[in-house]
Amino acid sequence: MDFIQNTIKAVILDMDGVLWKSNEPLCNLNELFHRFETNNLQFLFATNNALRTVPQYIEKFNSLGVKVTEEQILTSSIATGYLLAKDFPEGGPVYIMGASALQTTLLEYNFPFTEDHPIAVVGGLDPDISYDRLKKASLFIQSGIPFYFTNSDATYPTPEGFYPGAGTFLAALETASGVKAKIAGKPQPFLFEACLKRLGTSPTETLTIGDRLETDILGGFRAGCKTALVLSGVSTRQDLLSWNPKPDFVFNDLMQLFE
Ligand SMILES: [Mg+2]
Repeated sequence: MDFIQNTIKAVILDMDGVLWKSNEPLCNLNELFHRFETNNLQFLFATNNALRTVPQYIEKFNSLGVKVTEEQILTSSIATGYLLAKDFPEGGPVYIMGASALQTTLLEYNFPFTEDHPIAVVGGLDPDISYDRLKKASLFIQSGIPFYFTNSDATYPTPEGFYPGAGTFLAALETASGVKAKIAGKPQPFLFEACLKRLGTSPTETLTIGDRLETDILGGFRAGCKTALVLSGVSTRQDLLSWNPKPDFVFNDLMQLFE
């Protein structure tokens, strides 16, 4: 595609619903990566899913027969670290209600876990949620400590149906504390900003690709990037009719990018 060859220097891809659906690849990933390389396009992967760490995503790519580097994968945990570092450049101890992957990532950004005098409360999907954890987080927030959350996706799709997503836990904690969280993941622009920083490209020469209008497309738009919707995941052509902002491109699958 001429526009992409002339203008776009980098591509930021969502994973679930774009590259694969659970363990089923949605296109030939080897061929796709080869096409990016031959078109001189840098590429990164950005997901709201904070349940897996970056090495776990690399394993997932490996299991599908392709190699990626750690620098190519960004999660909403990383976006949370990026956002916290913007607000607290010195780092500091935080109370975390979320998966162990979130705790590991925040530590890398100089935000170790504490239950004693945190500078912020950070929440995410917590597979080991308990009343005690919710209570502690809620009490800290009510005492005026800034409140962050990885992302607000209410659910996430699995072959079995929709599982409770981070947004379910967000609703619980916002209800308990009466305070709204600052969200790091899509549709906020921070995950894409963290990607742009890593790529060294400007928003207008960067294309974000995703399957959800309300997260991927809105988030890419807010970051000032070009956006493309692929119809291989959640959002449909019907959804698109009533949706604004419209994506710059709509593809049935990723390979159409090069047609
Ligand atoms: Mg997706």
